[in-house]
Amino acid sequence: MATTERKLSVPAKPREFGFFIDGTWRQGRELYDRASPAHDTVVTRTPRCTKEDLDEAVAAARHAFENDSWATIPAAGRAAVLLRVADLLRGRVDEIAYWEVLENGKPIAQAKGEIGHCIACFEMAAGAARLLHGDTFNNLGKDLFGMVLREPVGVVGLITPWNFPFMILCERAPFILASGCTLVVKPAEVTSATTLILADILTEAGLPKGVYNVVTGAGSLIGQAMAEHPGIDMLSFTGSTGVGRSCVHAAADSNLKKLGLELGGKNPIIVFADSDLEDAADAVAFGVSFNTGQCCVSTSRLIVERSVADEFERLVAKKMEKIRVGDPFDPETQIGAITTDAQNRTILKFIDKGREEGATLLCGGKALNFGKGQYIAPTLFTNVSPSMAIASEEIFGPVLSSFRFDSVAEAISLANDTVYGLSASVWTKDLSKALTVTRGVRAGRFWVNTIMSGGPETPIGGFAQSGWGRESGIYGVEEYTQIKTVHIETNKRTHWIS
Ligand code: NAD
Repeated sequence: MATTERKLSVPAKPREFGFFIDGTWRQGRELYDRASPAHDTVVTRTPRCTKEDLDEAVAAARHAFENDSWATIPAAGRAAVLLRVADLLRGRVDEIAYWEVLENGKPIAQAKGEIGHCIACFEMAAGAARLLHGDTFNNLGKDLFGMVLREPVGVVGLITPWNFPFMILCERAPFILASGCTLVVKPAEVTSATTLILADILTEAGLPKGVYNVVTGAGSLIGQAMAEHPGIDMLSFTGSTGVGRSCVHAAADSNLKKLGLELGGKNPIIVFADSDLEDAADAVAFGVSFNTGQCCVSTSRLIVERSVADEFERLVAKKMEKIRVGDPFDPETQIGAITTDAQNRTILKFIDKGREEGATLLCGGKALNFGKGQYIAPTLFTNVSPSMAIASEEIFGPVLSSFRFDSVAEAISLANDTVYGLSASVWTKDLSKALTVTRGVRAGRFWVNTIMSGGPETPIGGFAQSGWGRESGIYGVEEYTQIKTVHIETNKRTHWIS
């Protein structure tokens, strides 16, 4: 592990934010102090909003949706605003990355890269807004013509987690805005800064007031109230499967709002003996360790062909030991701090359980002490059996469990041995094996001889208990529309009553 040298530093005093409703900033009565998980210093203070604040945000979003300033303007007008946002973001990469690092603990180089992806999301959404269209049915006979219109759903509630505060926001908000919907966003309490900064950027880009509103605060209060709110037409929730399930109950018990859910995963990577093992080992080490394993699509189960398993596991462990862990402000750092104390404890508990249940620890397996902050060494367990907790539960940390297979069918069966279905990857030079595995494994995103690649053109989302619906790309805009079927009679009516 490399020791690191600090380049940027924490702010002299915490930055204090308001919350944002109907184009204006408001002061919170109570504030939440967020300490940097890498530096143990309070860096931001964000409002603990109330349910009354949420009601006002929803009312502002409703008014903006119905007053024709956004939903019904030509798509070219919405696209122009989204493109201006992309341009403005280009000038603020350093600032946004700085606050992402401070609140989340991720490395500065990674944070900047993510903002590049966010810019692409705004550009993609601008194009998608102009491409959005319905359908016609010219096959209903000469007297009847059919049309399918796409209309924005209305007021959307957006709840985001702390692992990619700005990126997950930008994989959703631009597409929601492209559809013509208006928004109330609630970021995770520990990482609210960049969602609030985006409010200023959207305003500067010309977004009408009331279209983007932000209420900050606890998930159990504001998030729950959003899921229950009768004024919200659709809720897009990204977070844990448990809370996703509670959103389903809340939606069912209130107004049956439409739901988009992006939830947990226990994502497999299948490595065949014929693959480029060096490349595959690098992908495995990256897949499990990127963002300290706090990714919904993190690789957490290695499924490797038995004939090369010993050699391959050693290769992966060698790679994992070389990962540069440390101060996220160091541009050379590859993985930074664990974002929350609770998550840090959870990961360490899983590592203890892995040992207790008899798995073999090949590398990592411990907290790293750099004087400040909370860090965990990338960890690889071998000889893992399906009944162990580390085999089936989402850890959301840099911990990999290795399994072995002898046949294609066994590889597919091991990959599918989970309640989740978020992402998967396969490594082989044999096209037919790659395709058989791709077709056989249940996952919303699949990578062949690559991992975590892609852009805002392609949809994201999961099978099974990993969620409902898709975000991003043209699919992501369509998700926020509803379909109206129209029939037009072109001839005189044949009377029912003569
Ligand atoms: P979480 O479910 O605890 O919190 C996510 C968001 O929901 C936060 O904004 C939180 O404040 C809010 N929330 C908490 N309780 C709520 C409630 N009762 N009602 C409504 N909202 C509530 O998850 P987390 O710990 O922030 O994130 C980690 C989890 O998120 C992991 O399980 C991970 O797999 C998942 N995740 C999934 C994706 C994806 O795209 N599938 C992406 C990132 C994270």
